[in-house]
Amino acid sequence: MAILLEGRLIAERIKEDVRLKALSLKTRPSLASLIVGDNQGADSYAKSQAKTAEGLGIEYQIYKLPSSSSEDEIIGLIGELNVNKSVNGIIIQNPLPERIDYKRVIFSMDPEKDIEGVRPGNIAEIIAGRAKFIPCTAYAVMELIAASKVSLYGKEVVIVGHSAIVGKPLAFLLLDKFATVTVCHIGTSQAGKLEDHVRRAEVLIVAVGKAGLIKGEWVKEGAVVIDVGINRVNGKIVGDVEFPAAERKASFITPVPGGVGPVTVAMLMCNLVEAARLQHGL
Ligand code: NAD
Repeated sequence: MAILLEGRLIAERIKEDVRLKALSLKTRPSLASLIVGDNQGADSYAKSQAKTAEGLGIEYQIYKLPSSSSEDEIIGLIGELNVNKSVNGIIIQNPLPERIDYKRVIFSMDPEKDIEGVRPGNIAEIIAGRAKFIPCTAYAVMELIAASKVSLYGKEVVIVGHSAIVGKPLAFLLLDKFATVTVCHIGTSQAGKLEDHVRRAEVLIVAVGKAGLIKGEWVKEGAVVIDVGINRVNGKIVGDVEFPAAERKASFITPVPGGVGPVTVAMLMCNLVEAARLQHGL
């Protein structure tokens, strides 16, 4: 039976460190959260981030623009936040209205304030080993693997999902640890090869958003399983991996909820305090 990688406990340790670092700064670190339009998901996500921030001595300010805002108006506000010395980090809540070019908007952010690490140039900096901020979810996955104390050196690591915020940055972060990395995606599934790749994973990371995509019986005996997926099934939150069967074969596994999610929020706050420290010349 696998040992649970309890994200909530790991996040508490990280947050305590963040709280102490925030306290040591001359001014309270501050995060600006930009929401465009009315979206319940974005509102409740921002609310829960605000609650976490408050508990860590971080100021959290929500900037809300109407859904009718033009791309230039959004970029104009980001420009103001970029030069506002009392703002240390900016996050742009998803989703933006469909007509808005998300890439153009995030590109307008000052790299020193992009605490989610979502600017397109960030991936190049990760490859070069010089990223200011690691995208929070990828960062959380690395922290969870570190908490298992399983060495990545020479391990077969299979990532399912190749998004810009999870799979792609993770591939490079894992290569830096000398893991042998395979990245699977929809094309892998459509070619009928997903099961074969998953079966040989010593460390399996899944970030797709499809409940039950990974059958528990595919999981290699003793594998470390990190399930990033969030799906609502019959009113319950579940991951992408069939948990009960996977738990019997894995050595370590993240629960959903309570695995990657809480650590992702902790890493966001960690990046914010790091941004504030850099901006204070520390
Ligand atoms: P995305 O939609 O940007 O990417 C999905 C990826 O899954 C793509 O690479 C796609 O090719 C792949 N995919 C789709 N269907 C597939 C299939 N049948 N077989 C194999 N691969 C398939 O997703 P994202 O933004 O990276 O998010 C992925 C999941 O992770 C979602 O459930 C999201 O809610 C969750 N998520 C959780 C956290 C957290 O903090 N826990 C953070 C970010 C995302």
